[in-house]
Amino acid sequence: MAERITGHTELIGLMAYPIRHSSSPAMHNEAFATLGLDYAYLAFEVDNDTLEDAVKGLRALKLKGSNVSMPNKTVVGQYLDKLSPAAEMAGAVNTIVNEDGVLTGHITDGIGYMQSLKDNDIDVIGKKMTITGAGGAATAIEIQAALDGVKEMSIFNVKDKFWENAEKTVEKIRANTDCIVNLYDLEDKDKLKEEIADSYLFAQATGVGMKPLEGQSVIPDASFLRPDLIVTDTVYAPRETALLKMAKEVGCKTMNGLGMMLFQGDAAFYLWTGKHMPIDHMKEVLD
Ligand code: NAD
Repeated sequence: MAERITGHTELIGLMAYPIRHSSSPAMHNEAFATLGLDYAYLAFEVDNDTLEDAVKGLRALKLKGSNVSMPNKTVVGQYLDKLSPAAEMAGAVNTIVNEDGVLTGHITDGIGYMQSLKDNDIDVIGKKMTITGAGGAATAIEIQAALDGVKEMSIFNVKDKFWENAEKTVEKIRANTDCIVNLYDLEDKDKLKEEIADSYLFAQATGVGMKPLEGQSVIPDASFLRPDLIVTDTVYAPRETALLKMAKEVGCKTMNGLGMMLFQGDAAFYLWTGKHMPIDHMKEVLD
């Protein structure tokens, strides 16, 4: 008889829509199998209309936990018992942990980004960073970076539907951390150049650089960069965005979004199992 799944196997879910394209099930199941942990991870098509029932089901079936992705990240908090400080500040949850019926919401995207910096020997703590973006990825990074001790942060975004969220993020960072934070219009390229000039790190966290904006960059040319600037992009498809290509040509140390993806998964994996993913093995299979 096949023994991979038995009566003891614990289930972890992923609730999102659309979700069939996600690499998370393969990533987590590979890590469970490699470590010999008796868990299974499955994706469930859940949208805002079915989310409350899905969370009730998670409780009733005693799932160990779940990941949550779009469109549920900013909605699921109301159905949970507790939120981590970062999830509370970000107003978003990507990981649910079920501890004896008490459901806690966490956001591990920002933790994943900060851990991927560490993994690349990049230490932004106590320093200044400039970051573009005000969506889910950017907000999680901005909040975690401020909580972790980044000294100063200049945030840029276009004045679209995400602008109001950027203003809220700035307010929350000011109220809850010592980070000096300012928000600017991404259309103001002179200001962007000025802020990058005295930053240790420039983080790109908008959708610019991936489809349908592939080939585009938030900075117009290489004069915004210098060889000792670190440049990161949350985009991982393509592995090298137009921004990262430009930065490499200038001689900057660069990092794409793959590490953030891996380490946000690892942080969730740790919350559920108390163990870290086999990181080197995961890097090999993800690349
Ligand atoms: P989102 O939809 O929540 O936010 C989109 C962001 O892009 C906003 O800041 C918006 O203002 C900006 N934007 C959109 N069109 C723009 C344009 N034409 N010019 C300038 N800015 C524009 O998306 P998200 O979930 O925050 O994702 C942002 C990027 O991060 C995506 O490329 C996504 O693939 C990537 N991401 C990576 C990870 C990871 O683990 N590496 C996790 C989440 C998201």
